Amino acid sequence: MKVVSTRAELREERAKYGGSVGLAPTMGALHRGHISLVRASRSDNDMTIVTIFVNPTQFGPNEDLNAYPRTLKDDLDLLEAEGVDIVFTPTASEMYPPGFQTQVEVTQLSQGLEGERRPGHFQGVATIVTKLLNLAQPKSAYFGQKDAQQVVVVRRLVADLNLPVLVEVIPTEREPDGLAMSSRNRYLDAEQRSSAAVLFRALGAASDRYTAGERHPVVLRNLIYTTIASEAQAEVDYVSIADPQTLRELSLPGDSPMLASLTVRFGRVRLLDNMLFPADLNSRPGLTATLGSV
Ligand code: AMP
Repeated sequence: MKVVSTRAELREERAKYGGSVGLAPTMGALHRGHISLVRASRSDNDMTIVTIFVNPTQFGPNEDLNAYPRTLKDDLDLLEAEGVDIVFTPTASEMYPPGFQTQVEVTQLSQGLEGERRPGHFQGVATIVTKLLNLAQPKSAYFGQKDAQQVVVVRRLVADLNLPVLVEVIPTEREPDGLAMSSRNRYLDAEQRSSAAVLFRALGAASDRYTAGERHPVVLRNLIYTTIASEAQAEVDYVSIADPQTLRELSLPGDSPMLASLTVRFGRVRLLDNMLFPADLNSRPGLTATLGSV
């Protein structure tokens, strides 16, 4: 496994490979969710590039950039054991050298949901993803369902800018109690950690109701709210039932797929999760066909 930290080294190493290349962009503090992206890339491609970069431009002024967990040594051991070929770990000044001033913005899809609560976040994401795709030039790039709006934004930018890459969407990996794996779960204290399974329970309850025939987004949204409200420590940030392609909030019953997403605060920790209805869409082919398909 080659570990490189400059753009020039990445290009040089990349150029040595003639076969298909898969790219999994991450911010490190790797867990089983990241590893499922790596494994998908390894099984689809001749070689795999993983990037580890805590991208400052996607953090707001009051967010956890400095506190974000950094576990590079453990991350590299994990990636080595997975058979990754190249790891790119640039510094912020390597990615944003003096004079840098170009931004990529996916105007409408970046506005609601996370974008509304985190102004500038998706501009930071869209810009860094474009740069990483240009540097690594992969055939396929792997993103997690966990960050559903990110998937929709990235698929739009790839289509709009005619980038020659396939975007692959990998289902959310969960803890045994259903909590979506996240680098930020480590900030939860024991009581918050056991309450945090309520996100999955709430999404699951709405999914079951959908399976039983309920199609009214207002009913499904309310069911998620009331389930979360049963946990004293949980503070709902938002609950959304939206169209999985446009991310527009739904208000009328319908049989088209729905994306249920939410963020919930436990103290200072903000947790994010989502599920597609009907439930069988939460598989790699279902996600790829539905979430942000353009
Ligand atoms: P991050 O390091 O949080 O920026 O995540 C890097 C990539 O891993 C993103 O495409 C995430 O959506 C994906 N990811 C994060 N958590 C999970 C999870 N629990 N299951 C699957 N993919 C995930």
